[in-house]
Amino acid sequence: MSPADTSLPAAPPAVVGAFIAGAPQPPGPVRLPVVYPATAAQVSELAESDAAEVDRAVTAARAVFDAGDWPRMGVAARQRMLMACHDIVLAHSGELAHLECLNLGVSLAELKTRHMHRAAYNFRFFAEVIGQTAGEVYDQTDGYRSIVVREPVGVAALIAPWNAPTALASMKVAAALAFGNTAVLKPSEQTPLALARFVELLHEAGLPPGVLNLVNGRGPVTGAALVAHAGVDLISFTGGTETGRAIMAEAGRRLKPCTMELGGKSANIVFASADYDRALDAALASIFSNNGQQCLAGSRILVEKPIADRFIADFLARAQRIRIGDPMAPGTELGPLASAAHRDRVLRYADVARGEGLEILTGGGAPAGLPDPLAGGFFVEPTVALATSNAARVCQEEIFGPFATFLAFDGYEDAIAKANGTDFGLVSYLWSDHLPTVERAVRDLRSGVVWVNTTMTRELRAPFGGYKDSGVGREGGAACRDFYTEPKTVTIPAMPITPRRFGAG
Ligand code: NDP
Repeated sequence: MSPADTSLPAAPPAVVGAFIAGAPQPPGPVRLPVVYPATAAQVSELAESDAAEVDRAVTAARAVFDAGDWPRMGVAARQRMLMACHDIVLAHSGELAHLECLNLGVSLAELKTRHMHRAAYNFRFFAEVIGQTAGEVYDQTDGYRSIVVREPVGVAALIAPWNAPTALASMKVAAALAFGNTAVLKPSEQTPLALARFVELLHEAGLPPGVLNLVNGRGPVTGAALVAHAGVDLISFTGGTETGRAIMAEAGRRLKPCTMELGGKSANIVFASADYDRALDAALASIFSNNGQQCLAGSRILVEKPIADRFIADFLARAQRIRIGDPMAPGTELGPLASAAHRDRVLRYADVARGEGLEILTGGGAPAGLPDPLAGGFFVEPTVALATSNAARVCQEEIFGPFATFLAFDGYEDAIAKANGTDFGLVSYLWSDHLPTVERAVRDLRSGVVWVNTTMTRELRAPFGGYKDSGVGREGGAACRDFYTEPKTVTIPAMPITPRRFGAG
């Protein structure tokens, strides 16, 4: 049975620093503001980890990996620890959601019921995965048996983005630890609050010191020091495509395995044969959930011409009624974007669209009339652009906000050409009740995930990740097993062998 959530809303700590070898570290001198995006008020301060602190974190993880119990522990003991992590995260889901909201601005309800429950579930999921993971046996070579055992790889660098900090980072942490690795986690410097408490909670649940270490700071400072550290054996990164390219180049130079979960510009294809109402609801949900800041957002909505005018009109009517406001208030559907810089970037895309001659059908600015103190927050209206060519920048570039672009298509070939006509390939959404169309499109779409008549349904057992510029590698049950373990082949003859006898005459 899961424990009830008895946690109270937490006041954020005055300073968030690193957590190494089971203990919070004295905060260093370089400080960065942590800001509540709904009001622009500073709520905490981040103490940035420099290269020396990153080195201490990697050294702590290295020491446990090289000589500690964690990688050598039996599966049942590790499962018990993972379940304790599950329980404590769930029991504090309200507190964690509140902290996350304070530096992210996604609605408290969405954070508590979706993000934090998912964060807890990640531990339970990987506890179950390791209980079912078996090695392999090859006995096809006469007289020999080869067995393949899986061993943890080493010290994992886990680098997470700001859009769903705890939900995404916890997947990496749970997977890395479940397979016996030790880790150093680096969240985005914009969103350290909930993850700092999360790491503390895992230790309260009994996680041994040094198994999971936390460093905080900017990507080019703290992240770069972590990626370049000689004691890191593998890197799991979720973030933007350009950052991913730079990290993978460094990993390549050092011959370190990495997974890259990167950006997207996912097509949401609505055929005239779709269940219209469901497709409409899902089109809105897949672009406006999480304040529009999702790698898997259905941001390019391709609608078949016979239904396009009606679909777009209905979408607009609903988009204009979305409840924007205080992310802590029940009923809020769209909160602020995570930072002022990101708000400005998203708004610039309205100008980019207009500059290319596209029509902005609704939105494109900050919402008017929000009461103080929300008037100072980083809000963007639900924005909808109408494109006539897939070459438009708002059809090609990831905007990462509540910004949908519509493009009408003319028949099956046109739909697939437009859907695949991007450098990204994370997810495709497909709406049609015509089975042959579905079967054909599933085969033709070039993306790591195809959601047919559904929206954002993560199956954790299955691989998740992107084709093309959306990533390299996958996350998921077996995919994480492959990434976080090294296969070791052990060959044993059934009977004593007779080796070739060099030098025996
Ligand atoms: P970034 O690429 O800017 O940052 C991601 C993480 O990498 C942050 O922790 C960042 O630190 C860090 N970082 C930045 N530069 C470096 C560096 N040189 N070396 C090491 N670490 C570095 O992405 P965002 O945080 O802006 O996240 C949004 C992006 O993430 C979007 O493109 C989105 O599509 C993608 N994403 C992909 C998902 C997927 O599963 N495919 C899921 C969710 C998001 P800091 O922020 O502190 O500078």
